[in-house]
Amino acid sequence: MHELALMTTLIERVLELAQKEKAGRVTAIRVKCGELSGVVPDALRFCFDVCVEGTIAAGATLQIDEEPAQWTCEACGHVGRPVSDPHPPHCASCGGTALRLSAGRHFQLVSLEIE
Ligand SMILES: [Zn+2]
Repeated sequence: MHELALMTTLIERVLELAQKEKAGRVTAIRVKCGELSGVVPDALRFCFDVCVEGTIAAGATLQIDEEPAQWTCEACGHVGRPVSDPHPPHCASCGGTALRLSAGRHFQLVSLEIE
């Protein structure tokens, strides 16, 4: 499972950070999950429970912020979802087709709370 590998890496990073801060316990972990990252939040929650078992992050709450995908227009700077009718996808503001995916692709750690 894709999410298990991601979560394993995430928890390793969390524990490393917590250790650096000499934390006794990790109480909350917040992550950002992009719409196009391919990560399924429910699968993530399941993997989280498995990954934190036996660590100082056991019992921590996992908050998942789902980030919608957004594109930035290279021509006018408009940020949002392109219009794809009529095809091809184009900027909702100026009609340009040079669009860059600027949000919603990543899965990352946002913050953590420690004690
Ligand atoms: Zn535009």
